Amino acid sequence: MDEQRIWAPWRLAYIAGEEDPNAPPPEPDDWRPGAKPSCFLCRASASYELAEEAQRRNLVVETGEHTVTLLNRYPYSNGHLLVSPLRHVGKLHELTPAEHLEAMQTLARYTQVLEKLISATGFNIGLNLGEVAGAGVPGHLHWHLVPRWPGDNNFMPTLAGVRMIPQSLEALWEAIVAFGSAEG
Ligand SMILES: [Zn+2]
Repeated sequence: MDEQRIWAPWRLAYIAGEEDPNAPPPEPDDWRPGAKPSCFLCRASASYELAEEAQRRNLVVETGEHTVTLLNRYPYSNGHLLVSPLRHVGKLHELTPAEHLEAMQTLARYTQVLEKLISATGFNIGLNLGEVAGAGVPGHLHWHLVPRWPGDNNFMPTLAGVRMIPQSLEALWEAIVAFGSAEG
């Protein structure tokens, strides 16, 4: 996705000296068995001593027993989440029943969270399996949960265009994490 985006909030944080957009991602203290350090989903699934800081930097909103849920850094729409098994597996049949179940329950729960938090009125939920199907990280499968609103952009635009992402990722991350703590 090379699409151009207007991303003023990040830039403001950068200009204010709060954030270095080129800072390397935090180094895990412990990787999951079989993890690939080059895989951002493995990085999001790893263990960190400074857990909250790492969650913020990796945009992780929740780590379950079998899955991790994070904001997509390159969202198709505001609130675009990824739900992924903690394990580096790329094929649907490689998932255990417990991983399947937790992924589906997590997707269901976050449709409710995003309905309440950002008034999403519909969702596209999808899985791109294999490079030919558009998987950006073919080795580590992940469901996309894309909130929709009446009159918004088409799902998965493939041609270049400028779109507004109205809320900064960090502000949204804070809102989702706070919402989860209040509910849970
Ligand atoms: Zn991975």
